[in-house]
Amino acid sequence: MHHPSLRIAIVGAGPSALYAAEAILKAGLGAKIAIVERLPVPFGLLRYGVAPDHPNMRALGDKLEDVIRDPDVAFFGGIEVGSALSVADLRSCFDAVIFAYGASLHRSAGFENEGARICIPSSEFARWYCGHPDADPSIFDIVRRARDAVVVGAGNVALDASRILSRSADELATSEMPDRVREALGHVRTRQVTLLARRGPHQARFTTKELRELGELSDCAVMTDAGDFAGIDAARIEDRAAQRNFELLKALSVQGELPANRRKKMILRFGARPVAIAETAGGHILRVRQSDPMGSEAMTEHPVDLVVTAVGYRGAALEGLPFATDRGVVPTGEAGRVTDEQGLAVPGCYATGWIRRGPSGVVGSNKACAGQVVAALIEDLGAARPGAALRDWEEMLHERGLRWFDASHWHRVDQLEREDGSARGAVRTIIDDRQVLYRRPRILNEA
Ligand SMILES: Cc1cc2nc3c(=O)[nH]c(=O)nc-3n(C[C@H](O)[C@H](O)[C@H](O)COP(=O)(O)OP(=O)(O)OC[C@H]3O[C@@H](n4cnc5c(N)ncnc54)[C@H](O)[C@@H]3O)c2cc1C
Repeated sequence: MHHPSLRIAIVGAGPSALYAAEAILKAGLGAKIAIVERLPVPFGLLRYGVAPDHPNMRALGDKLEDVIRDPDVAFFGGIEVGSALSVADLRSCFDAVIFAYGASLHRSAGFENEGARICIPSSEFARWYCGHPDADPSIFDIVRRARDAVVVGAGNVALDASRILSRSADELATSEMPDRVREALGHVRTRQVTLLARRGPHQARFTTKELRELGELSDCAVMTDAGDFAGIDAARIEDRAAQRNFELLKALSVQGELPANRRKKMILRFGARPVAIAETAGGHILRVRQSDPMGSEAMTEHPVDLVVTAVGYRGAALEGLPFATDRGVVPTGEAGRVTDEQGLAVPGCYATGWIRRGPSGVVGSNKACAGQVVAALIEDLGAARPGAALRDWEEMLHERGLRWFDASHWHRVDQLEREDGSARGAVRTIIDDRQVLYRRPRILNEA
């Protein structure tokens, strides 16, 4: 099936958007694809979430680069749907719109005084260490002083935050982080990071690979508390990954005393529920209800300079697009067709990735999701007359006075970052300076 006049917009330029574009290209429709992204650069959480000390994972972006370079794909960076233009505007210019704008809002951990200055949601914290242009600059100061940090959560994002706070300056030297982020993280040499997980060590959602990595930290001793494991029989854990994790965590608990030659400590506690952050004369304490598998409970207090909450993400609603507030996603039917309150498909509207499924799975999970959505889109083409009575997209942007960053801008940023990074043996140094990131290519060339 060839549809050279077919025009498709994709909202977002994260992995799911790029996998969707790739699937459309592979289908050989000859369609023109516009990728509309609020930031001037692509890759979403692959750039601003996946840990910058995990270069292999981040290198997935290189594979998706071909999509951005394809002549049938145009990148429109710096355009936020919902503010610069509406969902209705998009629908008036394209035969189909695929919403792939991710889940960028954090979920609350639900304890008292969670809004304290030293308490940062993981969404903000990851943005900060990944050099996101909208990162909160006050985090620099908090991290520079953070000798006692607590991370709340039991998934990989919580592990990322704990690991990054526990790395030595030498280990961070070749990461992709901006220079000033590395400087802030390395400012205090001795630090204790306590990870607090609400459920038991047999219920943690870490991946085994990330857990094993903790044992390789060069200047950090990692341990757990034997009491958190009491009475749990590994043989009765049905899920094999959970069983493996349990054994790994338990092995950490029998190491006994922390080695004295490590300047950082990471302690993983289970059955721990934060209750409140309280201010004291000298700083802050976190009150925690600690329970063990045998059912006994106690209140404990942790002195804290930094609390990172990593308890999940949710999507934001866009005006003119159905939204399931309870789940924080755009509701879809089986194949990713957006559905309205009556459960009926909204013509020409599809959703994929985190905004469709919620924050679950690995980057690759978005590929299967996008493939399914594109298959539905192609199925729906049927007797439609693509391109009929559509407004001209670029003309509309010009009429509205909207300027955008195209792919050449990203490629210049990419080149500058790689040049800067290679000088210190890193893949890149992420440009976190808004002034530089948002400069037009011509001016950027002169930097
Ligand atoms: C901290 C963290 C670490 C992670 N680490 C790993 C890992 O190590 N390995 C792994 O496999 N997975 C990891 N993941 C999961 C992975 O990042 C996600 O599976 C994936 O990024 C989801 O892709 P997406 O395209 O749906 O959303 P996103 O990656 O969030 O992309 C959405 C894009 O939409 C843009 N956007 C948002 N709103 C608008 C709007 N209104 N208009 C236009 N554009 C908009 C955003 O700027 C963004 O570029 C991690 C996630 C997080 C949060």
